[in-house]
Amino acid sequence: MDNKIRTRFAPSPTGYMHIGNLRTALFEYLIAKHDGGDFLLRIEDTDQGRKVDGAVDVIYETLKNVGLNWDEGPDIGGDFGPYVQSERLGMYKGYAEKLVETGHAHYCFCSEEEIEEQRKEAESLGISFKFDDPCKHLSEEEIKERLDRNEPYVIRQTISNVGETSFDDEVYGHIEFDGDLLDEQILLKSDGFPTYNFANIIDDHTMNITHVVRGNEYLSSTPKYNLIYDAYGWQRPVYVHVPPVMKDEKQKLSKRNGDASFQDLVAAGYLPEAIINYIALLGWSPETEQEIYSLEELIDVFDVKRISRSPAIFDKDKLTWMNGVY
Ligand code: GLU
Repeated sequence: MDNKIRTRFAPSPTGYMHIGNLRTALFEYLIAKHDGGDFLLRIEDTDQGRKVDGAVDVIYETLKNVGLNWDEGPDIGGDFGPYVQSERLGMYKGYAEKLVETGHAHYCFCSEEEIEEQRKEAESLGISFKFDDPCKHLSEEEIKERLDRNEPYVIRQTISNVGETSFDDEVYGHIEFDGDLLDEQILLKSDGFPTYNFANIIDDHTMNITHVVRGNEYLSSTPKYNLIYDAYGWQRPVYVHVPPVMKDEKQKLSKRNGDASFQDLVAAGYLPEAIINYIALLGWSPETEQEIYSLEELIDVFDVKRISRSPAIFDKDKLTWMNGVY
């Protein structure tokens, strides 16, 4: 069994790249390279409605500019392109159908209105809403008939009698959830395309990803991801959830607002090497006095156990100081 470490940076092209996004890419890169592993780039663009024109090019150029080169991908004239989910759409439906066969997912024919009705009822009773899908009780014949009539459907994850579910995160430690509170998310949409979460899992598995680094806003959906890994009998990846990079005490950096965009910093005269050095130390500490590191040195000393759980605040003065040292 090949147990090489494989990581991926999996941005959704929904805005420009700020230094928090670049920090995620850097951590993915350092985890892989510290162990002689592979680093991949995957563009998660199944939600075409949220796509921002030009964002993919910015991601591509930013990673190249700072030397975070990825190790494989479709051939684009002698170079590796990124993997792009919208170019792989055909493969996800079969995976969703497999989960239906094993009882871990089901066809759902409910309309938005029916779901909304349930939501309103829960609201009027003052209880928190969790969709209770009547389609789970359809007989096989009924399902077949409705599929034959070409009724629109989605495939939903089935979660029943899960009880307590847990996982270990490299940054946040042991995390437990009550599995029965998890909502049964849509895996395949009515247009046959996968949802963002589902495509993410299938791709991480089929690309043999061993370590997933992403923002801590994904901590609460990770149990749902895990149930799917378990349903297929696949090994779960190692999770490294990282706290956000903040603009100030209260606000996170935002891709949409163009906060701390890498491109703007470079245009303002900051050197890519200084930016990489600065963001490596943003929420991660080598626990030595040394502050100036090349990418090669970072590869050498990086240790995931020293990522902090507290949000980091982007401090431009510190970056300016560092830039002056280069
Ligand atoms: N596509 C997600 C994002 O841009 C990242 C999800 C992941 O890395 O698993 O926020």
